[in-house]
Order: sequence, then C-alpha cells, then structure tokens
Amino acid sequence: AFDVLVVGGGPAGSAAAIYSARKGIRTGVAAERFGGQLHDTLGIENFISVEYTEGPKLAASLEAHVKSNGVDIMSLQKATALIPAATPGGLIEVKLENGASLHSRTVILSTGARWRKLGVPGEEQYLTKGVAFCPHCDGPLFKGKRVAVVGGGNSGVEAAIDLAGLVAHVTLVEFDAQLRADAVLQAKLRSLPNVTILTSAQTTEIKGDGEKVNGLVYKSRTDDSLHAVDLEGVFVQIGLVPNTEWLKGTLELSKYGEIVTNARGETSLPGVFAAGDCTTVPYKQIIIAMGEGSKAALSAFDYMIRLPEP
Ligand code: FAD
Repeated sequence: AFDVLVVGGGPAGSAAAIYSARKGIRTGVAAERFGGQLHDTLGIENFISVEYTEGPKLAASLEAHVKSNGVDIMSLQKATALIPAATPGGLIEVKLENGASLHSRTVILSTGARWRKLGVPGEEQYLTKGVAFCPHCDGPLFKGKRVAVVGGGNSGVEAAIDLAGLVAHVTLVEFDAQLRADAVLQAKLRSLPNVTILTSAQTTEIKGDGEKVNGLVYKSRTDDSLHAVDLEGVFVQIGLVPNTEWLKGTLELSKYGEIVTNARGETSLPGVFAAGDCTTVPYKQIIIAMGEGSKAALSAFDYMIRLPEP
C-alpha cells in the first residue's frame, strides 16, 4: 500500500507527488495521460521564471522530476471508483479500469478538467493556430488583432472584457437570445467601444487559410441566414468540465462537478485531498495547479502523522 496515492499526472499531481516523496513516504501516481492538458498546449509564457516553454516539453520535465524523486508512476491507468476507508485512518481503495485496485493511507485527486468544444469544422484543425481556450494564456498573442469569443456566460463575457483591452476588436457570439453573464459584467461589456455582441448566433465553422484562422461563420437563429466574420482568433468559452464523473456520490462536488476543497486542499472525505483544475479553486492555470498540488501534499502529510500506526 502507498502512504500517498496521487490520481492524475498533470501539473497538480506532479507537484503533489514531488512534495510527498520528499517527505520520505511511499508515493505513487496513477494517471491516464501523464502531463495532462500540457500535451494540448503549445506556447506557455506565464509559467513564472520561464519566459517561454512548450506544453510537451514542460510535461517531459515534470515526469523526469517526479521520477528522480523515486515516485512509482503508473501511466495509462484510469481510476473508475474511490472507496473510502472502512475505519478512520484505514486504507482507501482506488479502483482502476483494468480491474486492479490500489490502496493508500491518503489519496490526492488531481484529475484536471477539459474545455468543452464547439464540435464545428475548423476547430480541431486550427487548435493553437488561432483557436484558443484560455484568455490569460493566449490573449497577448492576439494583440492588435481581431478575435471572437464564443459563449456569453460569465467566462465568455469576462474573456471578452479582458481581451478588449488587448486586441483591436472582439465579437462576442452567443447561441441564446440573450447573454447569461451577471448583469454587472454585461454592462461593462456593453460600455466597451471595440466589442460587437451577437445573440441568437450559432457558430457553424471556423475558417482558415490552411495555416491559421482567418474567419468565423455563424448562422442567425432568427432567420437561418449565414454570416462571415473576418478575424484572426477564436476563444471558445462554453464551459470547463472537471474529470470527476467517476467520483459522483462519493464526495462533495459543486454544481459544476468540481471537487469541493478548503484552503488546505481537504475534501469532504477524511484522508482524501484534491488539487488543480478538478477542484473549486478558481483560475485554472499551471502555476496555480502546482501550488495547490504542493499544498495538498503537505496537508496529506500533516494528516498522516496524526494517524495511529497501522
Ligand atoms: P490536468 O493538466 O488536466 O491533468 C489531469 C491529469 O489527470 C492527467 O494526467 C489526466 O490524464 C489524469 N486523469 C484524468 N482523469 C483521470 C482518471 N479517472 N484516472 C486517472 N487519471 C486521470 N495554463 C497556464 O498556466 N498557461 C498556459 O499557457 C496554458 N495554456 C493552455 C492551453 C490549452 C489549450 C489548455 C487546454 C490549457 C492551458 N492552460 C494553461 C491550463 C493548464 O493546462 C491547466 O490549468 C493545468 O494543466 C491544470 O493542471 P491539473 O494537474 O489540475 O490538470
């Protein structure tokens, strides 16, 4: 059995594993795809102290750093169920898709999240070539250019306000007849001179020249007419889905499916901690996930030293 079992091998899980292993305790990481969302990321310019790196490169150095601390990495392993300890301080079980089970005195959940995609032609083809999901990460790449934000909920409207300060023009495209963001955000958005708001507009295609994005096509839901917008970037803001489906009914999740954690990374289950994009902690970023992973590991260690010897 492990002292700490980390489920998920992205930035949060890697940091949790390194901090745990450095306490000299038996640490394992089970991850479906080690590196997580970093594999979908090209340029990273906001990982503090590193001016520029690329996702796959950062993923490889994370894995090397975790390995050099003697952590047992179990790659290509998908967790399907978490079974709380039968007695306080007993072993927690994590079931894997391959039928095996892992046991540990503490568990750190760091299964991350995935951006909901539009599923329209051009979206996959131009991913990282004009199609983006994170305004904090990729906004500056579009300085002085024209972009669209698809989605009129809070994250879409926040993204549009944020981008309007950087880019030449923002078109906000909302499927519904009205925006769903908070009134104060909508008022702020409407006050900006370089923003166009389109409602009842269904994005049907992202266009490009083969190399990068050069336009977006939407269908008016009032008269079915098609319209083209010339632009250089499209930010898709229609939801971030945490990878926590397998935990439903086991511990407390928010209405968005995020694992509810407190300031110490504790979940509603004793001995189970969580960190990164799968939790309620706001602002889903690499450096935040790493900080939270480190914190969860220190909390798990604090919890463990108070347990009776098995
Ligand atoms: P993830 O990176 O999502 O890792 C989750 C891990 O859990 C993976 O190993 C996954 O395989 C595993 N997993 C999931 N479910 C299971 C399961 N059931 N069993 C076992 N393992 C499981 N952030 C920045 O700071 N700067 C940027 O420039 C930046 N650019 C981005 C660009 C794109 C296109 C995307 C998608 C994200 C970007 N982000 C950026 C956000 C950043 O990638 C995330 O905030 C960060 O990766 C979150 O780390 P995490 O460890 O919480 O989760």
